[in-house]
Amino acid sequence: SNGLMAGKRGLIMGLANDKSIAWGIAKACADAGAELAFSYQGDALLKRVKPLAESIGSDFVHPCDVGDADSLDALFAAIGERWGHLDFVVHAIGFSDKDELRGRYIDTSRANFAMSMDISVYSFTAMMQRAEKLMTSGGSALTLTYYGAEKVMPHYNVMGVAKAALEASVRYLAEDLGRDGIRVNAISAGTIKTLAASGIGDFRYILKWNELNAPLRRTVTQDEVGKSALYLLSDLGSAVTGEVLHVDSGYHVIGMKNPDAPDI
Ligand code: NAD
Repeated sequence: SNGLMAGKRGLIMGLANDKSIAWGIAKACADAGAELAFSYQGDALLKRVKPLAESIGSDFVHPCDVGDADSLDALFAAIGERWGHLDFVVHAIGFSDKDELRGRYIDTSRANFAMSMDISVYSFTAMMQRAEKLMTSGGSALTLTYYGAEKVMPHYNVMGVAKAALEASVRYLAEDLGRDGIRVNAISAGTIKTLAASGIGDFRYILKWNELNAPLRRTVTQDEVGKSALYLLSDLGSAVTGEVLHVDSGYHVIGMKNPDAPDI
């Protein structure tokens, strides 16, 4: 352990399995000495989340569906009862109907637009409404976003629109909570093969494209997102708020295909 997070208590939302970005972040925080609580969506995930949590020293797992206000209230009540205090939160949650993560954005339905915005965007604000009350000595909050918020990426469609709104929420939340010493940031992660990502059309092609064209000529790992998350969640990032940090092997600075890359 590097001790960076010794004595800090944090909630990780969005752990599904050992491929989740939330898992990379949880491991980095636990390794730095943090005490962790985990929320999981639905009973089916408990059998995966519980052993993962236990493997890094946490027996604090609690269900939460972020689409349901009562469920969020119950989660934060449980944290209040057990800890009475919270230092950091991680929001690694997104969802959209996978039938709309292919084809044209213009064909997005009203119902899936509303649902994607609710689960992928509003949930972060709903989480912060509750976390704020427990962050009585300042805190740090982190969400996960993607480059599809800034530029058109194939098949990302309504999720790109949702991530743009999520990034704007990071800035507004940073302003609202800054006076209380609570920092709010996002990591814009490069493409990683996870459960959520496998719902996106042509995902393998997108992964390969990133690998061939990013300045570092590779994709990124969950553990690398974890290391950058540690910077933003710990005192190392003490003057950083409202920021969207790209952890993407530099892909976002590229304006054109690498001429040396083979055809894929
Ligand atoms: P993942 O499937 O491991 O995690 C997504 C999580 O969202 C799951 O744990 C799922 O249970 C949770 N979730 C969905 N709906 C929920 C609800 N109603 N209530 C509670 N939880 C709910 O996939 P991941 O790739 O680790 O995704 C984590 C975050 O990272 C997402 O916001 C995703 O958009 C973002 N992201 C992923 C990539 C990538 O390439 N994988 C890149 C950039 C950003």
